[in-house]
Amino acid sequence: MRSFTYERAIDPASAARAASVAGGSFIAGGTNLLDMMKLEVETPSHLVDLGRLPPGGVIQTADGGVSIGAGLSNSALAADPIIRDRYPVLSQALLAGASPQLRNKATTAGNLLQRTRCVYFFDTAKACNKRQPGTGCDALAGYNRMNAVVGVSNDCIAAHPSDMAVAMMVLDATIETVSPGGATRRIPIAQFYRLPGNTPHLDTVLAPGELITGVTLPPPPPGIQGYRKIRDRASYAFALVSIASVVDGSGGQVRQARFACGGIGPHPWRVTAAETALTNTPANAASLDHAADLLLAGAAGHGANDFKIPMTRRLLAQVVSTAVEGTNHG
Ligand code: SF4
Repeated sequence: MRSFTYERAIDPASAARAASVAGGSFIAGGTNLLDMMKLEVETPSHLVDLGRLPPGGVIQTADGGVSIGAGLSNSALAADPIIRDRYPVLSQALLAGASPQLRNKATTAGNLLQRTRCVYFFDTAKACNKRQPGTGCDALAGYNRMNAVVGVSNDCIAAHPSDMAVAMMVLDATIETVSPGGATRRIPIAQFYRLPGNTPHLDTVLAPGELITGVTLPPPPPGIQGYRKIRDRASYAFALVSIASVVDGSGGQVRQARFACGGIGPHPWRVTAAETALTNTPANAASLDHAADLLLAGAAGHGANDFKIPMTRRLLAQVVSTAVEGTNHG
């Protein structure tokens, strides 16, 4: 590990200013950053520790939604009674991620900003455009079983690793930030992540030093919520494919459905045209196939990850069918 300077943040605005210097970085739970620093995947020269800022809680908002503290631990968020009762898809997604020890340290903001776990990103001897722009992508013809099949480019096929962010996507979360100059903004999560294109080193639309200060959720939509995750082992594994869903319907008929996928894209993958295709339709093979076609438009594997395409189709069909049969699939 290389040497770096360190300071404790005293408030969000000054933390944003302090981290906006060249080589500056925030650290909160440190569950991702410290691993990357040890491997020299990230080499910040100045760390701004957010750990002594108030973590924030879960607070009901006037519109019937909730605001969530940026520094709240994933464990606390998953266990919150309001989240468990009104946003169970979020609680389930959080509990499907990582391990209890990691969830006790990881924060809301840090979870949203996790870097990919593509094996070449974490190996500084390998070519990786996300880690070092312009060097190439060893995953294209290499070990890509965990990599993405939609939204990718010839420069990067990395998958986003978060479970929590998939649930946030289906719940239409809004991310609140403060800039180094003190300006605040609210970013809908659908506009928060970037596709890799030819700039895969940029994961989000955040500017240097811009700090996430909280997340808000609108009132929960009607329907059965659930998070289904297929992975190589039952715990402490990233998703091969996951789906966060909110499905309203009964008797085999869908009234409306929302779904976002993890494991298949460079960010939580949601296609509203696929949801619209299922509005007021029977959940039969034809409608579910059509919705999957729209969800997976342009999907392409790179060999070892080809299986994710049929796996996503089957998982979507199972999630929607089960929900409208009246059985909670969570
Ligand atoms: Fe790097 Fe992306 Fe290629 Fe993985 S897929 S090696 S993260 S450029």
